[in-house]
Amino acid sequence: MSEPHEWDEPTWRGLVNQVRAGRNLKPASWPGGARCAVALSFDSDHETNELRDGGLSPARLSWGEFGARRGIPRIKAALDRHGAKASFFVPAVSALLHPDEQRMLVDEGHEVGLHGWIHEVNSKLDAQTERDLMFRAADTMEQVTGVRPVGMRTPSWDYSPNTLAIARELSLLYDSSLFADDDPYEIVADGESTGIVELPVEWVRDDAVYFMMNRFGAQRPYTPPEAVLDIFTREFEGAHAEGGLFLLTMHPHVIGYRSRIFILEALLERIAARGDCWIATHADIARHCAREAGLKGAA
Ligand SMILES: [Zn+2]
Repeated sequence: MSEPHEWDEPTWRGLVNQVRAGRNLKPASWPGGARCAVALSFDSDHETNELRDGGLSPARLSWGEFGARRGIPRIKAALDRHGAKASFFVPAVSALLHPDEQRMLVDEGHEVGLHGWIHEVNSKLDAQTERDLMFRAADTMEQVTGVRPVGMRTPSWDYSPNTLAIARELSLLYDSSLFADDDPYEIVADGESTGIVELPVEWVRDDAVYFMMNRFGAQRPYTPPEAVLDIFTREFEGAHAEGGLFLLTMHPHVIGYRSRIFILEALLERIAARGDCWIATHADIARHCAREAGLKGAA
């Protein structure tokens, strides 16, 4: 491929149009007359954080194990106190390592969604490999939980030029890996409506960017937990003011510590104090948006 400054208009326009935001799917009303919708997600990467890079370190694998042993129970206790249902995006390998965790979450009314096979980076894969992994992941998740996943979050929110076509082939209801809005929208592929609901993510609303650290690098996390709560709260209050969607991504091996779990607890307190928010799984929110917009395939 030539240098970007040499590209003709069809080239750069074509690249931009591959995956695009279509119409806004923020519904006229949320269920129960709620003012806004709250989608809490937890990406249960666990050991795949180390495995995906070919990591061989038992110490780093044990960090992932913490997510399952301590992170998930603390998260579940916080959700249970408020009767809140959430979505857990789980790489298939992580689900095979912790099948009881996934079954317990589904039994209790939470959603378990797709998050790749071993947290692979889609844009580094050829089309056939990516497709095989996504289909194998969907089949594996269904075998583990008994429920076929209806939504995906790509590992590391990475998209290849083939990801959307594979999601369509899997007949997914929604994706939650893209960034083009605060509120739900329909994904458009090369100018064509896909009927797939996007529940957009953002690094601002992700615990990992504030807390992760590279042991051998010079940088250390610079945002104190109170400031992270402040950012998340402002994002929530903004969604509430606009009557939109507040979607937050957290990780059991990041948020699940004694010094951090209060962020989730305090946020749930504030949401409950508002008294007019619909906390629901991504699948339920996507289904509501699709139905209200009359998207085909909406049940
Ligand atoms: Zn992940």
